[in-house]
Amino acid sequence: MKKQRIIVVGGLSAGPSAAAKARRVNEDAEIILFEKTANISYATCGIPYALSGKIKDRDKLMVVKPALLENRFGIEVKLNEAVNEIIPEEKKVLTAKGEYHYDKLIFATGGHSILPPIENLDKTDNWAFAKTIEDFDRVYTSGVLEKVNKITIVGAGLIGLETAENLLLKGKQVTVVEAGPQILGPWDSKFATMGQKVLTEGGVDLKLNTMVQSIDPETQNINLSDGTVLESEYMIIGISVRPNTEMLTAKGAEYIGNGALVVNERMETTLPDIYAAGDCASIPNQITDEHAWFPLGTHSNKGGRTAGANAAGGNETFKGAYGTTIMQLFDYTIARTGMGPKALKAKNMPFHSTLIISGTTPGFYPDPKDMVLEIYFDPTTKRIYGAEGFGERGVDKRIDVLATAIYAKLTIEDLPNIDFAYAPPYSPAKDPVAVAGYVAANSMNGKHKEVSVTEAAEIFGNGSDIQILDVRNPKELEMKGKVENSINIPLDQLRERMEELDPAKPTYVYCAKGLRGYLASLILTHNGFEDVSNIAGGFTMWDAVNN
Ligand SMILES: Cc1cc2nc3c(=O)[nH]c(=O)nc-3n(C[C@H](O)[C@H](O)[C@H](O)COP(=O)(O)OP(=O)(O)OC[C@H]3O[C@@H](n4cnc5c(N)ncnc54)[C@H](O)[C@@H]3O)c2cc1C
Repeated sequence: MKKQRIIVVGGLSAGPSAAAKARRVNEDAEIILFEKTANISYATCGIPYALSGKIKDRDKLMVVKPALLENRFGIEVKLNEAVNEIIPEEKKVLTAKGEYHYDKLIFATGGHSILPPIENLDKTDNWAFAKTIEDFDRVYTSGVLEKVNKITIVGAGLIGLETAENLLLKGKQVTVVEAGPQILGPWDSKFATMGQKVLTEGGVDLKLNTMVQSIDPETQNINLSDGTVLESEYMIIGISVRPNTEMLTAKGAEYIGNGALVVNERMETTLPDIYAAGDCASIPNQITDEHAWFPLGTHSNKGGRTAGANAAGGNETFKGAYGTTIMQLFDYTIARTGMGPKALKAKNMPFHSTLIISGTTPGFYPDPKDMVLEIYFDPTTKRIYGAEGFGERGVDKRIDVLATAIYAKLTIEDLPNIDFAYAPPYSPAKDPVAVAGYVAANSMNGKHKEVSVTEAAEIFGNGSDIQILDVRNPKELEMKGKVENSINIPLDQLRERMEELDPAKPTYVYCAKGLRGYLASLILTHNGFEDVSNIAGGFTMWDAVNN
């Protein structure tokens, strides 16, 4: 009997994952993987860390070698053989070396790097993308890093920033040029601002709202959109990628706005017997149920696995994603899951948010570290839409807990009922996620009102007749500073000094991180103050975002 033939196009992440799973499901199928370059299955995510030398050996990035796919999984790997055309009606692919029939096809071609319009880029070799192992080789193995000191990174997304940090750790002078007003576009600006401080304090020269216009091919200096000339010796472009799908969209495959192919939960495209996975595919956003694009290694692996299983006769599903992302910024971690303010506003989805600053270990335990955690939720159903976190410790765990909560469609009221592990080295007795749940529930029950530091700054700046109350101790004000025009009454003196305040005026209360402000706002409300709001995250957040 003629063997079923599965052809996989693309050999980096989704492709090998699909091919290996197809073999595990079907021992008899003939599986051929085409890769247009000389390399397969290397760890793109590890590339920035190899630049700093954290990953010492380039070979460590080569996760699965062709011989392993061939010997262990019986997959025929065709390197340096690009698929140039797919003819769905004849079920065949064309390469420069011939044509191949398929029974099932898995399309895993990923994305291609976006090249911004930079004048004279074609007149110099002193630049590279930050995407493939070939890009990495241009910078690393060809000795560029030994020769140059001043490096400019274009783009302040995950890849640009990871590259920047690792080059800085390697001892280079690094400038990051970003066209947008903040790093990490999808993040809320408060979190981006905290990240920006860490980067600049770490030594990265960050230029926001700025574009690279041209490069001087003689000196390699860069002309920026603000008119300045940036001294630079080498440029790395890490903006984003565009799904590599023209081969199938031209044949009628359905796609979303950026060209990413629409697939169902079985990873089937709208063309018969053709599956797609990884950066070339769009998958359901599990919160909105719309197709969206999440170009991340975690989804390319899982989507590839599902495509491979189904192409080989299995029946598996991949339900999609909702944007969980994490990155290290020197000693800090910044992470997010689900939908944040920007995405929610863009979809006109009403939401409420709660921000807390919490210790990640109990106050009595040595070396305390705080974490900033903000949760976004539906004000009616109280279902959690998203969360963002920032801090030196434990951010990864809390964001993954909240990612699980989103998957399970939990509400903010469920959070304190989760049975969190507790021992002093790991968390406080009330875990930050539980605390966020309490605070959110309190604000929704009308027990107290909260405003963000950005909302507070707007109100303070618009000349309204309000009063700002600082309930910290005078020593804290001396050491850290204060919000302009605030009245200082320490929390423990508030009951006896309340007459210094006007109960009819809108009152904005803050302390260092939020807890004393919350207690003060309850005291004031119980004593007849009509309109009291606590500033979420207190002076710590105010200082981080507004100063
Ligand atoms: C520097 C860097 C760091 C990253 N860090 C993270 C991280 O920390 N976490 C995370 O989740 N994600 C991370 N990512 C994203 C992640 O690497 C990608 O989402 C993932 O590699 C996508 O896999 P893919 O197989 O869909 O596509 P790709 O990795 O783009 O692979 C597609 C492959 O198909 C081949 N190909 C294309 N067209 C053809 C053709 N016509 N014929 C034959 N072969 C073809 C290409 O040569 C390529 O090898 C990072 C990406 C980069 C660049």
